[in-house]
Amino acid sequence: MHTLSDANLLINGTVRPSSNGKSFPNVSPWSGEPIGIAAEATECDVEEAIAAARNAFDLSDWSYNRPLRLQLITKFMDLLVANRDSLVQIARLEAGSAIGAACFAQVDGALNGGKELLECFNKVCWEEDRGVKSEFGFDSERIIVHEPLGVVGAITPWNVPLYVNIGKVIAALLSGCTVILKPAPDTPKMASIMGELAVEAGLPAGVFNVLTSSDPAMVGELLVADPRVNVISFTGSTTVGKRIMEAGAATLKRIFLELGGKSVNIILDDAPDFTMAVMRSIVVFHAGQGCAIPTRLLVPKSRYTEAVEALKMAYAGFADNWGNMDSPEQMMGPVISQKQHDRVLSYIELGKQEGATLLVGGKSRPDKGTGYFIEPTCFVDVDNKMRIAQEEIFGPVLVVIPFEDDEDAIRLANESNYALGGAVTGSKERAMKVAKRISAGAVSVNGGMSITGDLPFGGFKGSGMGREWGVEGIQEFLDTKVIASSV
Ligand code: NAD
Repeated sequence: MHTLSDANLLINGTVRPSSNGKSFPNVSPWSGEPIGIAAEATECDVEEAIAAARNAFDLSDWSYNRPLRLQLITKFMDLLVANRDSLVQIARLEAGSAIGAACFAQVDGALNGGKELLECFNKVCWEEDRGVKSEFGFDSERIIVHEPLGVVGAITPWNVPLYVNIGKVIAALLSGCTVILKPAPDTPKMASIMGELAVEAGLPAGVFNVLTSSDPAMVGELLVADPRVNVISFTGSTTVGKRIMEAGAATLKRIFLELGGKSVNIILDDAPDFTMAVMRSIVVFHAGQGCAIPTRLLVPKSRYTEAVEALKMAYAGFADNWGNMDSPEQMMGPVISQKQHDRVLSYIELGKQEGATLLVGGKSRPDKGTGYFIEPTCFVDVDNKMRIAQEEIFGPVLVVIPFEDDEDAIRLANESNYALGGAVTGSKERAMKVAKRISAGAVSVNGGMSITGDLPFGGFKGSGMGREWGVEGIQEFLDTKVIASSV
């Protein structure tokens, strides 16, 4: 039986249980059984964390001592890297990530991204000289200073918890903000280990705080409503994102939203290796629980039959190569919870009712274990107007839509409320032309990596606003101030 150590709170420099001693079970998606406990933050804990973060921002030199910040955050990142194996274990056990996926994107991708954020620190423009200007008979020397916004409430999801936690926490700390991290109830340990390592790295008390809770909304709602919190950086569903934006208006919060996706994958008829490009499109990585995974596959009508055959081959090859917790090669485990399991299955039923053809999969797989297993699933003959083509399923489900020509592919790609990621495969020049017209924050051409720690990441339309990662991800937490002095 695998277990994880207790997920504790970090408040004002102290790692501790909740103020009333209550905890909640940390449940493994592999088994549906508890694998540890997590502290149940109370309203008093939230109050203490906000006060600590506020004081650390207002009363310490954290916001303006850049060399100290860089030194301590570098040490924090070094400790995260040194604990890589524990992080893989946490991603595996509480996020239900197969080891292959846990090593590849969940953890190594997050750690590499964090190191790249450190490298971005020195590329941030902290101060600009705007020169001398004469106005109304006065000469003024003008500078622009970029300074941190204040206290950040970072609210994160369960699917790639380390990746999102690092993207927010390291960038916000580098900017000079102080942070309160609120993870999803399903992945408390991935946040709490960051708290433990922050203390070991010597981050000053209050600069970084962690609040775990089984109530998905309580802590986040308190952070959003509190005037002492300046910024909410949220990653999660579009529905909750809208609610946060609405609630944040009362205190004029800066709201940064990384939301859902229904990213498109267009294979043009002149793709260098058409069959291989289609075969690589199956949605299996982390059981499809990735916001930017391209889950709408667009293939040309002229090669549709060929594409369907390629998909059959790819899924047959994958067949039983998933759902084994101990296999180091595997990329797919269970979905996160019973709720998500039932939600994905209801979308599969909906797809059948809408008239799409179920090519493979479609069933729950209790034979894989007592957890939440759903087999890789693919619908063909999908109309882009169907709900399975328009709504985020967040499970191992691919929908395949035929298109006439490039204009039709672009139209179908952009007929979506979401606009997070996308991919195009075809002859380079043509694929680049199509990529430039896709409405999305990041588009990959012929397999190019559009999501790395040194590049800005974020969505258009219903996929959110603002950018994470890269220099832009640090700048997101900075405001702009002018200082003009008479000459
Ligand atoms: P969710 O919206 O249910 O929850 C996200 C976070 O918000 C959790 O910490 C949750 O506890 C908290 N929350 C829930 N209700 C709240 C409220 N009323 N006020 C404040 N906080 C509240 O999303 P999820 O199910 O945890 O994650 C899946 C979603 O996240 C998917 O839609 C996925 O696309 C999205 N996601 C987006 C990105 C991105 O970068 N765009 C990355 C990962 C996941």
